Amino acid sequence: MPIKRADKTPMPVREAQQRAHDFIEVNEGYTKAHAAFEAERCLRCQDPVCVGGCPVNVPIPEFIHAVAMGDMAGAAEILRSANPLPAICGRVCPQESQCEAECSMTQRFSPVAIGHLERFVADWERTQPPSVQAKITRTEKIAIIGAGPSGLVCAGPPARLGYPVTIYEALHAAGGVLRYGIPEFRLPKQVLDWEIGLLKSMGVEIVCNVIIGKTLTLDELFGKMGYAAVFIGTGAGLPQFLGIPGENLNGVMSANEFLTRVNLMGGYDPDTADTPVKVGKRMAVIGAGNTAMDAVRTSMRMGAEKAMVVYRRSDKEMSARVEEYHHAMEEGVEFHWLTNPLEIQGNAEGWATGLKCQKMTLGEPDASGRARPVPIPDSEFVLPVDNVILAIGTTPNPLLTRTTSGLLTNKKGCLVADEKTGLTSKALVFAGGDAVTGAATVILAAGAGKRAAQAIHEALEARG
Ligand SMILES: Cc1cc2nc3c(=O)[nH]c(=O)nc-3n(C[C@H](O)[C@H](O)[C@H](O)COP(=O)(O)OP(=O)(O)OC[C@H]3O[C@@H](n4cnc5c(N)ncnc54)[C@H](O)[C@@H]3O)c2cc1C
Repeated sequence: MPIKRADKTPMPVREAQQRAHDFIEVNEGYTKAHAAFEAERCLRCQDPVCVGGCPVNVPIPEFIHAVAMGDMAGAAEILRSANPLPAICGRVCPQESQCEAECSMTQRFSPVAIGHLERFVADWERTQPPSVQAKITRTEKIAIIGAGPSGLVCAGPPARLGYPVTIYEALHAAGGVLRYGIPEFRLPKQVLDWEIGLLKSMGVEIVCNVIIGKTLTLDELFGKMGYAAVFIGTGAGLPQFLGIPGENLNGVMSANEFLTRVNLMGGYDPDTADTPVKVGKRMAVIGAGNTAMDAVRTSMRMGAEKAMVVYRRSDKEMSARVEEYHHAMEEGVEFHWLTNPLEIQGNAEGWATGLKCQKMTLGEPDASGRARPVPIPDSEFVLPVDNVILAIGTTPNPLLTRTTSGLLTNKKGCLVADEKTGLTSKALVFAGGDAVTGAATVILAAGAGKRAAQAIHEALEARG
């Protein structure tokens, strides 16, 4: 079917029935012809409101114009000047509620596919020899805690300026949620590895299996380790539970545990992995954010015959990216909207067998601004299940703050940090990403890492 100029050029995707059983990336990426066609749709507005919709203000019309002109190197340079993780953000950013929501085309047609074009340019860039070289020319050492997007992005600018930069990561591989959370079928690890390789080629040292707050304290980084400034990008990896009966039954786990077992510990390949992941025939995932979509789609790929999402509100209130929701539906995920879990039932051997739920209706908006779910009396029923995965949110792990004096947190356990610089309550300690905002997005974490990098440089310059 010919593509109409009024419509976004569709992203080529793999066939749903096939992809639902493997971990190969679902989206195939634009061809050169797709990208050229889509780039021509950009109106190059006088007042490019799309730029304001992007948390790191990518000069969107400029990079798209470069694509239209066939200047891929120029497009890549413009993109990277604002967003240090374009291949990742082009794949996982919620563009529909950010840049694309602001696109002037949306007044009459569908928006320009900014995210798909971003991915196209960044994927082209990965086929080119890396151009960044850096040399250590300064003596002040910088330590970064956590190798998620905020930490990785914070490492780049100081390394380019000649500072020795070391990232300490608790897990055995770098990437944070990009490694252990977001599955291969959405974000191939080779994309992440390329970004990490780029940092290493700039001299950034990544030391894995070091938990700051346990292996070493933050104060020791300044003291015996001699660092001049520290950035905390430890994320929000502590899963929340519902507090309903049956959460400690076998077969019940948090989405973080499930996804880590599969993605980081290689659970998708039981022949080679030491970490078993037992997936039964019927899997219920509670929640409707990106984490829930990743968990439910992963469970299908791990062999679940019935993969279900259970959510107490409706599809209008879910926080998952629209694309993930559509892909999940195409792959056969079953959605139980307006359904509130009350209890997980188990058998005599201690395994989960059923999820007792209650039907809900929507009432007035609550504190989050979303319609409040209200229980419908006498509407309880039991969904037969073998596994229940909880994807209802995460909070920052308190380990670091408990072992560091003078680091202020708010009542949600998030680090208190200046919005512009990331400076915390402790001198020369900066922070950003989910550790500060609570669970949020990759681009917000990347933006915070970038701002903190600049602030660290300024603070060290001012110190002389
Ligand atoms: C399953 C899932 C899917 C998601 N999907 C999307 C999506 O599609 N789009 C999107 O924009 N966002 C998505 N998000 C959210 C996004 O991934 C996060 O907002 C982002 O990764 C936060 O980056 P960060 O650097 O702050 O923390 P993280 O990515 O959490 O990285 C923190 C790192 O710090 C390490 N660490 C923690 N404590 C210590 C310590 N004491 N010492 C040393 N290291 C430590 C951790 O091991 C981790 O590697 C998703 C999140 C999840 C869980």
